[in-house]
Amino acid sequence: MLTIAVSKGRIYDDALPLLAEAGIVPIDDPKTSRKLILRTTKDDVQLVIIRATDVPTFVEYGAADMGIAGKDVLLEHGAESLYEPLDLGIAKCRLMTATPVNAPEITGRIRVATKYVKTAQRYFADIGVQAEIIKLYGAMELAPLVGLADCIVDVVDTGNTLKANGLEPKELIAHISSRLVVNKASMKMKHQIIQALLDNFEKTLTTREKEV
Ligand code: AMP
Repeated sequence: MLTIAVSKGRIYDDALPLLAEAGIVPIDDPKTSRKLILRTTKDDVQLVIIRATDVPTFVEYGAADMGIAGKDVLLEHGAESLYEPLDLGIAKCRLMTATPVNAPEITGRIRVATKYVKTAQRYFADIGVQAEIIKLYGAMELAPLVGLADCIVDVVDTGNTLKANGLEPKELIAHISSRLVVNKASMKMKHQIIQALLDNFEKTLTTREKEV
C-alpha cells in the first residue's frame, strides 16, 4: 500500500486533477465524508487527509510515503529529511511581508506577527533587521491593526485579504507552490510504484506547460 498525505482545501482541489491523471481517484469526498483515510480507485494507493503543516511530519516519519505540501510549509518545517523531487506548480502564491498602507518606515527593532516563525527569523536575520517574531495561528492581518505588530509575514495570492484589512504587500520572501515530497526509505523500498507515479505527474505537468 502506498499512502499519500494531502491537506484539505486549495492544495487538495488543485491536486485532484493531477492524481486523477495518474489513475488515483478518491472513493470518498473529504468535503462530505469525515473519513481521514480515503481509499482510491487504485487498490494499492490511499490518501490521508491531514493539516497542511502536518504533511512533512507524516512523510518524514514514514506514516505517509509521499505528500503534497506548500513550499511555505516545507520552508518552515525544514525539508532536509525529505526528498522533494517535483514542483507541482499548483496552489501558487508568494510569501511576503506586509504593513499597513502608508505606514512610516520603522527604524530599529520591528515586531512581526506570523505563523512562519523560523522562516521569518531567517529572513530578517539575512537582511540584517532586528525582529521580534510573534507567533500567531491565524488572522495575521489583524495584528498591525490592533498594535500587536508592525508587520506581518504571510502568504499572498490576489492580495485581496491584505487590501480588505488596510495592508499592502512589501517584500517578497519566496515564491510558493506545492511540492511533492517523498519519504527517503519509501523511495528505496517502494521505488517502482513511486517512480511510476513521479513519471506520470511529470508527464501531466509537461503536457500542461505545453498547453499554456
Ligand atoms: P488572497 O488571495 O491574497 O486574498 O489570499 C487569501 C488568503 O488565502 C491569504 O490570507 C492566505 O493566507 C491564503 N492563501 C492564498 N494562497 C494560498 C496558497 N497557495 N496556499 C495557502 N494559503 C493561501
